[in-house]
Amino acid sequence: MHGDHVKLYIPGPIEVSGDTFQAMSAPMIGHRSKDFAALYEKIHPQLQSLFGTTRPVYLSTSSAWGVMEAAIRNLVQKKVLNCCGGAFSDKWLDVSLRCGKQAEAIQVEWGSPIDPVAVEQMLATGEFDVVTLVHNETSTGVQNPLTEIASVVEKFPDVLLVVDTVSSFSAVPIAADDLGIDVLLTGSQKALALPPGLSLFTVSEQAMERASGIHDRGYYFDFLEFEKNAQKMMTPSTPCISLIYGLAWKLEQILDEGPEKRYARHERLNAMVHDWVDSHGFKHFAPEGYRSKTLTCVDNNRGIDLPAWIQAMREKHSLVINGGYGKIKGKTFRISNMGDETDETISSMLDALSDTLPS
Ligand SMILES: *Cc1c(COP(=O)(O)O)cnc(C)c1O
Repeated sequence: MHGDHVKLYIPGPIEVSGDTFQAMSAPMIGHRSKDFAALYEKIHPQLQSLFGTTRPVYLSTSSAWGVMEAAIRNLVQKKVLNCCGGAFSDKWLDVSLRCGKQAEAIQVEWGSPIDPVAVEQMLATGEFDVVTLVHNETSTGVQNPLTEIASVVEKFPDVLLVVDTVSSFSAVPIAADDLGIDVLLTGSQKALALPPGLSLFTVSEQAMERASGIHDRGYYFDFLEFEKNAQKMMTPSTPCISLIYGLAWKLEQILDEGPEKRYARHERLNAMVHDWVDSHGFKHFAPEGYRSKTLTCVDNNRGIDLPAWIQAMREKHSLVINGGYGKIKGKTFRISNMGDETDETISSMLDALSDTLPS
């Protein structure tokens, strides 16, 4: 049935290991049972440690956009500042407006990082009460200067910081409490190497207080519902229990490997891809110093026919990379080193790229 398995080196969804699928096939349990509470209770301290928080970590049965939209609905009273510089961060502005909120963008060119000074200037107007930031802009391969931006936002005590770490969580260190992040969110199908459908997030005390004064939070993504249920180690509605089994397995693996070793592995594998880029006459789309550690966005400066190349690697080597996203499709290509990749798998993937690269 899986004879035509094509291994994914696209930056999400990424390859999911057989042992993860095995873990997900455990028998179903009732979501209001002691068994579920025990499952959540077991993974909760592990999640807190990875999130770098003493706050609860909530499980949302949705892709990341669910929580990204939820943060807008639960927290924006005055106006949200959306830091935009790629497909995901640009879309967040659109989502804010669709939620009927006042919203404005700091717009940088795709491929550029967000400038903390620009954030400070905007916040100094006093117009804003929420900032959204995509930490690792998966569409452009830019890792934004989170620490610098977080310390800017700290200077404005009434402004909440919402950070999307969908493609960086668990691959680079991110400490929610130390950085003063009010909502830290991630999804299952990228850096965590699980199938899609589950999101994880934290909400600071101040953000929870803000939410309690906002009246159109809805139900499915109401932060207060998550909090009320988490006190009993449960979720507001029936969660994706199989994915949570997968998460429990993944967390064990992550903690067995050790977060520091995991960060180092991602850095090393990412450097291998960068070496390949440099030695094959390509340029990076993101500037030095702001390059993602979990994927590489490559400028197609050689004008390669990307669909033909990707088809060739699919047919000959049963793997694929991505031929660019949104308005930079065809102009860039992206290679993921997220999840369970090793020196061996990255090295053989790069050999396959060389082997099929049109001359
Ligand atoms: C993939 C991605 C999202 C959207 O995730 P969905 O699972 O499609 O909701 C958001 N932000 C970033 C940075 C992403 O890479």
